[in-house]
Amino acid sequence: MAARYWRILWAIAALLAAGVTLAKPWPGDAQAAVVLGYDDALPSQLYTAVGQLNDVNIKATFYLTLTTVDASGTWQQWRDVAQQGHALGNHTFSHPCRGDRAGRGWVSAEQDLSRWSAQQLLADIERAQQQLNQLAPASERSFTPPCGDHLVGGKNYWAMLPADISVMRVPYDTKLPPVSPGITVIPTWFPVDVSAQTLINFTEKAARDGGIASVSFHGIGGDHLSVDSAAHRQFLDYLAANRNRYWITTTVALARHLKTVQSQ
Ligand SMILES: [Zn+2]
Repeated sequence: MAARYWRILWAIAALLAAGVTLAKPWPGDAQAAVVLGYDDALPSQLYTAVGQLNDVNIKATFYLTLTTVDASGTWQQWRDVAQQGHALGNHTFSHPCRGDRAGRGWVSAEQDLSRWSAQQLLADIERAQQQLNQLAPASERSFTPPCGDHLVGGKNYWAMLPADISVMRVPYDTKLPPVSPGITVIPTWFPVDVSAQTLINFTEKAARDGGIASVSFHGIGGDHLSVDSAAHRQFLDYLAANRNRYWITTTVALARHLKTVQSQ
């Protein structure tokens, strides 16, 4: 039953992402759901993205790497971000990625997931969960797998996630392995160095399709995999000006809504 349940949820998310329209799937008259994410707890998010989001009163989900929070001494800043109404998501404690894949020369030996066991990674995720709950307690949390990897020690850890993770964002092109029961999977675009118009076009397509525009950023006007801060602001201004057309929400709220739609 549980396996069937997540398959149905994934099917809904995939259909919506693929442009198949359900009858009035979104609250109000919204043409699409929009969920914004920011990975890696980067300084440019704290010093640029958060202010831009707050200026237009749009809430997002920040997927914190807790070792980065610790190293940068930004615990209080992230606590403030949560108190401003943004959600904090799990991106593991120490951000391990497989160093044995193409283009992963930058992965340190310590953070090389190909040298880790599943047990080690699950403990790392649990440690992140505990620290996130200290920053901003939540009964449900969303997760973004570092680097989109799912294999550790030859095992698929997406099927072993803790029960208090209810939703995960994965890159659009992911061939989905089994995931833990009850987890909603949101196919997500991770834009790098794109214009505001490209971000707007992506969102307009979701509106035409009645689907989901899930966008996850890294640096905003700095740091790695970045998007220009002016382009980011222009995109947010566009979303704010089109608030009546979009249901702009957090990843956990989107997953809850999809589960409600599915049960009707
Ligand atoms: Zn990351």
